[in-house]
Amino acid sequence: MKKPATKKNTAAKTVIITGAARGIGLAAAERFLKEGWQVAMFDVLMPELEAAAKALGEPKRILTHHCDVRSPESVKAAFEAVDARFGRVDALVNNAGIADFGTILETSLEVWTNIMATNLTGPFLCSQEAARRMAARGAGAIVNIGSISGLRASTLRVAYGTSKAGIIHLTKQQAVELGEFGIRANCICPGPVDTAMAKKVHTQAIRNDYHDHMPLNRYGLESELAASIYFLCSDEASYITGQVLAVDGGFDSTGIGLPTLRAMHRQKR
Ligand code: NDP
Repeated sequence: MKKPATKKNTAAKTVIITGAARGIGLAAAERFLKEGWQVAMFDVLMPELEAAAKALGEPKRILTHHCDVRSPESVKAAFEAVDARFGRVDALVNNAGIADFGTILETSLEVWTNIMATNLTGPFLCSQEAARRMAARGAGAIVNIGSISGLRASTLRVAYGTSKAGIIHLTKQQAVELGEFGIRANCICPGPVDTAMAKKVHTQAIRNDYHDHMPLNRYGLESELAASIYFLCSDEASYITGQVLAVDGGFDSTGIGLPTLRAMHRQKR
């Protein structure tokens, strides 16, 4: 016998989160579920995505779908699956991203192109699909995940940092152009967060440097990023658009010499 289609709950708000199989994206999915939203989780890692969604334990309010944000066809198909399952899009979190450490002289065109495609073109494509749907309803929120590397230049971040600086500007462009449709767009720039991505690129020495140079002396938690993402998507942020929020333990505020000055002051005490 054919299984009856799941009834759409068009009364509940729906968020789409890219790169939701793990890390910040998964933590955001958990937070939105806790707040009563329906969550569409997109990723390229399907077994991990299915396992993560299962562990969240809310099958009626979760849709998992393969979505390679670099591909317009893949993005379109994933958004159509959300239309079919939930029938509305209230918020989009452009979270999928990849990192690479390389200098200007060493970074290949292939690496550069792939980082730009994932971190910048992906959010552009997903936002286009989301904004068409949000504009039809006259409301919506987009949160783009940038990085402290998009605010401050650093060694080996030529492709990654430039892609994240790009998403900061894309956010402002979205806020300016989409405001008249009731759509808000904001960007969150995480400092170091202890996710799989950070584990891949941060050695113990890098970790020690970060701890030393950051006012709060620690990496961020995925849940702390999820809280700020949720806030900017919620009605609590109804008059906030075009903003860049560094969720970074104070990293963006520091100047040169914090560890040395701290040590000197400690000796005086
Ligand atoms: P993770 O690597 O832990 O998770 C990102 C997820 O996105 C992975 O499942 C990844 O799959 C997926 N993904 C990669 N490429 C694509 C694609 N083309 N289409 C769809 N999904 C894709 O990352 P984090 O949780 O650490 O980071 C999330 C966001 O936060 C990123 O944009 C990152 O740049 C940003 N950020 C993170 C910081 C940190 O310290 N962790 C600091 C500053 C910013 P796969 O494994 O196949 O790549």
